[in-house]
Amino acid sequence: MLAQLVALAEHEKVVGIGETGLDYFYEHSPRDAQQRNFRAHIEACRESRLPLIVHARDADEDTADILEDEMGNGDYPGLIHCFTAGPDLARRALDIGFYISISGIATFKNATELRETIQSIPLERLLVETDAPFLAPVPHRGKRNEPSFVADTAAMLADLKGVSTEELARITSDNFFTLFSKAKRPVSL
Ligand SMILES: [Zn+2]
Repeated sequence: MLAQLVALAEHEKVVGIGETGLDYFYEHSPRDAQQRNFRAHIEACRESRLPLIVHARDADEDTADILEDEMGNGDYPGLIHCFTAGPDLARRALDIGFYISISGIATFKNATELRETIQSIPLERLLVETDAPFLAPVPHRGKRNEPSFVADTAAMLADLKGVSTEELARITSDNFFTLFSKAKRPVSL
């Protein structure tokens, strides 16, 4: 599987590997199989130098343990996508050089704890994402999510971090192109 993944990752349109990780909420496959595949994807990132896109649900501790353990075999870049975990996973991910990507969940009324955690994440490690067609941000909740709604999540993040929306957009775009170094930056960005 590893050689095939690395070969496929050479395609010019492949800029990252994932999403992968651990989901103990749905548990579609047994935990040991999830962990094995997760480690294989990390190895593929290490070889291809593409960033790892990590999904973690109800599995913060194991996710952080595997990410840290694998760093011991050689570093690799990555992010935690659709971040909803607590401050512990945030800190451990930041400590290994990862970025943290925030979805519309952060705009939800009851996401107070998540917003607190986001305040501890440095701007230069933040990304913003849609997770479309899911998780439409306030004020579009209940609708089918679409990429343009990411502006609402970005506006909330800017507010939270005390910067202008333009500044937030500029920094998160820079972060994206730093992490996804294979993605070509449009002239307008
Ligand atoms: Zn996910």
